[in-house]
Amino acid sequence: MGRIKQLSPAEAQKIAAGEVVERPANVVKELVENSIDAGATSISIYVVDGGKEQIRIVDNGCGMSYEDAHACFLHHATSKIESVDQLNAITTFGFRGEALSSIAAVSKVTLITREHTAAHGTRIEIAASQISSASEVAAAHGTDITINELFYNVPARKKFLKTKETEWRQITSLFQALCFDYRSIHFSLYADNALVHNCPPVPTLVDRVRQLWDSNAHTNIIPLEAITDRSITIHGAISSYHYSKYDRSSIFFFVNNRWVKNHKLATAFCKGYLNAIPTDRFPAGCIFVDIPGDQVDINIHPRKEEVQFLHPRLVEQLITAEVKKTLEQHLSDKLKKQVTFAPASSLGQESRSVGFVPHRPLFHPILPSFVETITPKISNPQISAPLVTQSQIQEIIASDPFEPSPERQISLDPAPSHEEVGDIIGQLHKTYILIETEAGLYLVDQHAAHERILYEQFKQRFDQVEKVTLLFPVIINTPNEAIELIEPYLDLLIKTGIDIDRFGTNQLVVHATPVHLKNISIEELVHEMIGWISQHKTVHQTEIRTLVHERLHAQMACKAAVKAGDTLSPEQMKQLLKDLAVTDNRFTCPHGRPTGWLIPLGDIEKRFKRDYK
Ligand code: ADP
Ligand code: MG
Repeated sequence: MGRIKQLSPAEAQKIAAGEVVERPANVVKELVENSIDAGATSISIYVVDGGKEQIRIVDNGCGMSYEDAHACFLHHATSKIESVDQLNAITTFGFRGEALSSIAAVSKVTLITREHTAAHGTRIEIAASQISSASEVAAAHGTDITINELFYNVPARKKFLKTKETEWRQITSLFQALCFDYRSIHFSLYADNALVHNCPPVPTLVDRVRQLWDSNAHTNIIPLEAITDRSITIHGAISSYHYSKYDRSSIFFFVNNRWVKNHKLATAFCKGYLNAIPTDRFPAGCIFVDIPGDQVDINIHPRKEEVQFLHPRLVEQLITAEVKKTLEQHLSDKLKKQVTFAPASSLGQESRSVGFVPHRPLFHPILPSFVETITPKISNPQISAPLVTQSQIQEIIASDPFEPSPERQISLDPAPSHEEVGDIIGQLHKTYILIETEAGLYLVDQHAAHERILYEQFKQRFDQVEKVTLLFPVIINTPNEAIELIEPYLDLLIKTGIDIDRFGTNQLVVHATPVHLKNISIEELVHEMIGWISQHKTVHQTEIRTLVHERLHAQMACKAAVKAGDTLSPEQMKQLLKDLAVTDNRFTCPHGRPTGWLIPLGDIEKRFKRDYK
């Protein structure tokens, strides 16, 4: 007897269904897209147990006739296309005519639907593709469809459903994407019978974001104005440097108005925030990319969730550059506001917490300079600052990575220069430098600030770095695969002052390091570097180089910078602030932490109840 058997149509249908619906979020997506295609202006989504128990979609769209309500569950049943020739012209979502038939093959469905002109509606119950009841009923205009017990008859699939929380997360992401995409539709989302989101129509994307994200997002979402470059247009709404997330879940991309998941686009987006937010955080935003159809392939994924661009780098670069530019502009506007001569009490309204944090870097400084912005006031810093010994000053000078140039020497002359930032009040907890400015009290984190200064110096002058030959070369044990990974980048390390070489199959050897790296664990640095490289394997070579370079300099700067707890003399503080003022990204350390905070005078006055007018 032959071993090959033909599957029964019912079994074949169950398998085919898996391609359309894999999880509750796919069901929600198919059903909501049908509602949108039906012209609905109000769509409510009810989810029970992450959609595993029940999904119900209620819309006010065109509804279906008694006949169509039956036909819609048939395989390849669609009202949107009559022949294959029409495929290209299709603008609606579904054209496979397979969603409802697939869903009905693997769950228990109740459909209630009524056309606007009909006297009554239709109610149909169908489970595992078998209609069990059909009747005429009183019903509201539109369609109300309920999916119960998804995969109840396909245990192999049911087993692969994730926890309630995971399935719910997918649904909320989808829900947000739908809301962003269709701002003129009233969407609501219920979980286990409780209303989670109620989103009436809104005029702008920023308004939509405000409906959906937490209250912090309200003041921290900025529009990304539309820009077109080589027939690619992007626009959207993005988080400011004040708002960040622990994962990428709040990054949404739409390509020709279709929500897509694309890791590279998300990476390009995050790159725009380099130095603006801490490196272990992620920005949030939704970005719409409009691109001619012949430059994008939307058919690489069965559910069209992914896309492929003809020139991906063009799109990515545009995103990174525009995000960066928008953030810069936003910060400049903020800072200008910060330093206008408005009454101090109104400045305080800028932020609820203690102080507005101007910790955004300027990639290309737009403002004249930090110094001018904060409005200098000159005085003798020695009056209130702690005294430090000459040897302590020597220590700091010694910790400077490069031969200090004459103007960089720490001057013992207390004569104030026009470059001063404001009155240095002193050092708080040997960690923060306090500065009195016209706008309020400015706090600078001495470590973060020095890190930034050193980082920029390393970056500019890495080829002139002074090396020390180690008395005992450091041997680093690491698996062969790791060595293979790092080998192409060894010359980069050598350029940075770390003389490193392969040493047998499982070892690397370091003969020399830059002067101020001598006390840090080179081994740790190399292992970290291997980590970065393996993380970014898929990225372009030159990108890895840039990244490694940046990280390496950040790491070196961090290790060499003055620490919290180091006593600084007034002169050292002054020098630090002066050096900081001329760095490009003076508002954050290389890891993205802020170098300084302004506590606006208005906030202080408010706390002392002096802000009555
Ligand atoms: P497709 O969307 O590809 O046409 P579906 O299986 O998703 O296939 O839907 C089949 C048909 O059922 C649709 O073409 C449409 O005519 C009808 N339909 C489905 N959902 C709705 C709805 N919410 N309102 C009105 N008609 C609907
Ligand atoms: Mg459909």
